[in-house]
Amino acid sequence: MHFFPNPYNDEILYSVLARYSVRCGIISHKTIIEGIFGKASARAVMELPFNINGLISNLPVNSPYTGDVFIYNHTLYTFFTAFLPPERAEGIKCLMLEESGGSKAYGKAGILGSRLPLNEYMKFCPKCFEEDTAQYGEGYWHRIHQVPFIMVCPLHETLLYDSTVLVRGHNPQAYIPANGDNCRVNELPYYKPDTIKKFINISKDVQNLLESSFPNKPFTWFAKQYVERFKELEYANINGRVYWDDLVQDFKDFYGEEFLNAMQSNIEDKGQGQWIREVTHSDAKAMHPIRHLLLARFLGLSLDTLFNKEICYKPFGDGPWLCLNPAADHFLEPVIKDVEIKYRRRNKNTNGFFRCGCGFEYMRSVARKQGERVIRGESTGIRGKEDRVIRDKGMGIRSKETGVRDGEVEIEDREAGCEEQGRFVRVVKYGHVWEEKVLELIDEGVSDEEIAVRLNADVRKIRGFNRGKGDRDNMGEDERSKGEGVKGTRIIETLDNSIDFIVKRQKYREEWLRVVGENPDKGRVELRRLGKYTCTWLCRNDREWWEKNTPAKKYVQADNTVDWEIRDKEILQHVKQTVQEILDSEEKPQRISLRLVKTKSGLKSFDLQLDKLPLTKAFIDSAIETPMDLHKRSIRWAINKLNEEGKALTITNITAMTGVGNKYRKQVVEEIKRVLEGLGKR
Ligand SMILES: [Zn+2]
Ligand SMILES: [Zn+2]
Repeated sequence: MHFFPNPYNDEILYSVLARYSVRCGIISHKTIIEGIFGKASARAVMELPFNINGLISNLPVNSPYTGDVFIYNHTLYTFFTAFLPPERAEGIKCLMLEESGGSKAYGKAGILGSRLPLNEYMKFCPKCFEEDTAQYGEGYWHRIHQVPFIMVCPLHETLLYDSTVLVRGHNPQAYIPANGDNCRVNELPYYKPDTIKKFINISKDVQNLLESSFPNKPFTWFAKQYVERFKELEYANINGRVYWDDLVQDFKDFYGEEFLNAMQSNIEDKGQGQWIREVTHSDAKAMHPIRHLLLARFLGLSLDTLFNKEICYKPFGDGPWLCLNPAADHFLEPVIKDVEIKYRRRNKNTNGFFRCGCGFEYMRSVARKQGERVIRGESTGIRGKEDRVIRDKGMGIRSKETGVRDGEVEIEDREAGCEEQGRFVRVVKYGHVWEEKVLELIDEGVSDEEIAVRLNADVRKIRGFNRGKGDRDNMGEDERSKGEGVKGTRIIETLDNSIDFIVKRQKYREEWLRVVGENPDKGRVELRRLGKYTCTWLCRNDREWWEKNTPAKKYVQADNTVDWEIRDKEILQHVKQTVQEILDSEEKPQRISLRLVKTKSGLKSFDLQLDKLPLTKAFIDSAIETPMDLHKRSIRWAINKLNEEGKALTITNITAMTGVGNKYRKQVVEEIKRVLEGLGKR
């Protein structure tokens, strides 16, 4: 060859050689093709031409083109090999370079095996043709327009036309250039605008495929990517069992029949309809690239993700996960490294078991909600039927067979939107840290109800614990945790709620630090008044932090030269105020004890050397409540609350609010009766 025309942008090699033929001015196709490939038996092949080495060796001296440049940029090689394993793609490239390649590349690419046809005619876009003619003085065959099932020009977003040039014409050695005679605008089949939009999307995907160099991957890579994505979108369970009916239905709804028929990929078609199953099979074979693109787009997978990012379904996200043991120092901190995931076939729930070093174990559940899937990513904006919303929320979870019905609460996160799945959290095992905390609180005289609230358990469980305490003390660690059945467990909160909690806590902590910082000369009592609500919340939910970040009262100083008489009076005032606050509190009453007075007043042990403070001691002694005193006060509190809420003053209602152990039950019931009689009720 004495000259060679420079290939235009996205020009298919066939077209370059056709333009060459015209410029040669030689009439015989055979002579021309022999000049190109150095062989009279060469063929004019459009999609995957062969003997490219022959062409390279015949190019004029100093020609910059290599086999790779032609193969990657000017043939359909990248399209047909995109989803093939690396060795197979490499093999096809070799066949295309070789003199004897022939049509073997087509077999190896799986084109002959797939029942999907190749294009019959060379295709063109009238707008491209016009623009090319204006720019270069001639039109040419664009590579992307020749890709099978590409219906529109991705640049102009208009339908492509068939030219009159057969891809496999009667003269297999003839290269026919695009020209005004063979590129005539003729009649087009009608497509709905919606279908055309989908044609545009798929042509852009193909363009992306042709222009990017995605790495070749084994068949199993794609099979796994799709199945993992099915799991993410709830088209498969955690074990990889695919819900084909849902998947097929949604796929059809997503693309519509007209489009799928144009792509010859309608799943309803019995013969072709198996392709989605085939491509996701563990022994998947070659599948037409267009079908990979259809599936990827339906699944909201970008090509970059499909090729480069290994999808791994993680129903509970990445660890470490939060420990939800309120008795542990690390409560709500991400300390749990392992999760065991189990699938429950009966209700299609995916359960994660989170075990913490502190012995606490909880289970989170992802419930499958049919019809609430959203195809994410770059979709055409059409997705599965939205009215097909059947929420099988937590079915089975509440059933008795699971043995976890007790005190269970289902929390549904409505705000999270339809992408959020139903999630449940349930305590499986409380563990030694939690149990020790219960025992500690029982010893401190804290009521069962209070313990239940503080340790986030069902009060019945604490009661059982309290009763069995004697036995448990003599029990070994193992036995103790073994005795920990599912009975009496409860769902504690959704993880989202936990996060809400942390956010709230952060807000209150900041607010409290502000109050403390702005009032450096104030002690606890004053600070409490200044930051009333903040303080109440922190004392209840974040006591430890509050203690650490709240200064003791200024005037209380450790000093040898203390005048104890003056100190006694001062502290007495302070303690009186504290007790009054406890009594005035609208919250559920706590028993007034030396410990409570100490905590609430913020006084340190050395401040409260009662042997040196006779007045304070006398006052505290008089103020301390017996359990029964507390019950009496609680009853009054409960009656007030019930009145406020307009609820009936019954023994059941009152005891439900105050809570009462067996030990005092009889006395408490009598006291309630007495009070109610005094009120003239019942
Ligand atoms: Zn165009
Ligand atoms: Zn823990």
